[in-house]
Amino acid sequence: MRTQVGIVGAGPAGLFLSLLLQREGIESVVVEMHSRKYVEERIRAGVLEQGTVDLMHKLGVGERLKLQGLEHGGIELRFGGRGHRIDFRELTNGKCVTIYAQHEVIKDLIAARLAANRPILFAAENVSVHGLDGERPTIQFQMNGAPEKLECDFIAGCDGFHGISRASIPEEIQHVFSRSYPFGWLGILMQAPPSAQELIYTYHERGFALVSTRSPDLQRLYIQCDPQDDIANWSDAMIVEELQLRLATKDNWQLLVGPIIQKSILAMRSFVIEPMQYGRLFLAGDAAHIVPPTGAKGLNLAVADVRHLARALTMFYKQNRTDLLEAYSTTCLRRVWRAEHFSWWMTSMLHRFLDDDAFQQRMQRSQLDYTVSSRAAATSLAENYVGLPFTW
Ligand SMILES: Cc1cc2nc3c(=O)[nH]c(=O)nc-3n(C[C@H](O)[C@H](O)[C@H](O)COP(=O)(O)OP(=O)(O)OC[C@H]3O[C@@H](n4cnc5c(N)ncnc54)[C@H](O)[C@@H]3O)c2cc1C
Repeated sequence: MRTQVGIVGAGPAGLFLSLLLQREGIESVVVEMHSRKYVEERIRAGVLEQGTVDLMHKLGVGERLKLQGLEHGGIELRFGGRGHRIDFRELTNGKCVTIYAQHEVIKDLIAARLAANRPILFAAENVSVHGLDGERPTIQFQMNGAPEKLECDFIAGCDGFHGISRASIPEEIQHVFSRSYPFGWLGILMQAPPSAQELIYTYHERGFALVSTRSPDLQRLYIQCDPQDDIANWSDAMIVEELQLRLATKDNWQLLVGPIIQKSILAMRSFVIEPMQYGRLFLAGDAAHIVPPTGAKGLNLAVADVRHLARALTMFYKQNRTDLLEAYSTTCLRRVWRAEHFSWWMTSMLHRFLDDDAFQQRMQRSQLDYTVSSRAAATSLAENYVGLPFTW
């Protein structure tokens, strides 16, 4: 098999890239280790920046998003038993975010790609990449037990944090920056209508809590927990009780409760590899960087990477230019580090670190007070949350 751009991974990065290239008449093949059903049902992010929403419309995959996406013009920061709204529209000239689950985005992208008769090879086994420092890199794998070799001009490593692409870069070239946090998120899906119009980020002495939603009858709720904890230790009743304790307000706010249909524990980490390219391999999305989900940046950052990559590849094929490909890593890393900082900052402000660190707790309360009472501080949060312009 032969193609222009071989893409490893059918997550947001890989699928958006395939459609961006398709629009420019550049051929690609997506190689994915899981089945279509698996990737279409994987529950993950749900907050789309305006730029991501606009891109979906531009690619002609925004129909269901338009019908089902919920526009949020702000968030609530809740602490000391009171809620404080950060008004995105007022602070950022009318911008907002849209709540639309990542697996719905994935369904839309896969449907568009397959409708155009472009290949996605699901359930590929033992995927590996070779010849990255030459002119004809290959992706090798097995389909139904038979060996396959895909020759490419370029390979996009869009295979997430645990993929094989990043590990194929020689170790002496990799510069890794990382931070792990002493807590995780216990996340649940609850069958109940939204308890609030917008997301609620809560700082509480028992730990962080987040009220979010995925659709008019499905809530996504999180509580800070020990990352080593076993989800089996948490009965549904315990989770609901913990949410109610952390979310309680002086004016008796009520969580709408229903059956919990999924629960899991997610570790939190920050991670960046530099550079994001080696020879003819270009990393994009979680393969190159991870942010804690507090800033809702993971999916959006993956989209920003592949927009740069698609542009650079288009300039290569249409104008024989290599400068944008050479600058790919530097171009992406500016936005990556901004998102890393914002996600770390939100995480540090809203979570309990050590129970007995009274100094840190006073600092967090001071930062929260400042953020909700200074227009400058609130604007900084708002413009980062809705997403900086693509030129960042
Ligand atoms: C459990 C979880 C919950 C999350 N929740 C949130 C959230 O609430 N808010 C938020 O903003 N972000 C969240 N994120 C982050 C966000 O979902 C990611 O940033 C986003 O999915 C990145 O997209 P990606 O395409 O780079 O990687 P991925 O979505 O990870 O896609 C990578 C794809 O590559 C495939 N793959 C992996 N290895 C191989 C291989 N060897 N060969 C072929 N294919 C391979 C995978 O199966 C996958 O389909 C969450 C992430 C996880 C893991």
